[in-house]
Amino acid sequence: MLKIGTVKWQGKCAKHPKFSPSSDGPQAIRGECQRCQDLMTIYENHQRTLRLMRTFTPLARKKKTPDPITARQQNLFPSNA
Ligand SMILES: [Zn+2]
Repeated sequence: MLKIGTVKWQGKCAKHPKFSPSSDGPQAIRGECQRCQDLMTIYENHQRTLRLMRTFTPLARKKKTPDPITARQQNLFPSNA
């Protein structure tokens, strides 16, 4: 079981405050700046996590136990009657 609440996070590079990982991309990082590279890594990992969560949820729902109403209705017609 994993629960994650709403996370609001902001970060920027003091040397390159205009660098935006989402719109600029990794090729816009100047001088191999570690701060900008960290922002890029955080952005990429966040995107990957969101994708994983979206694809994980439908699988988790399929594993649910059968609908109790459907199970009750099936009991109205016992096979050994
Ligand atoms: Zn930077």
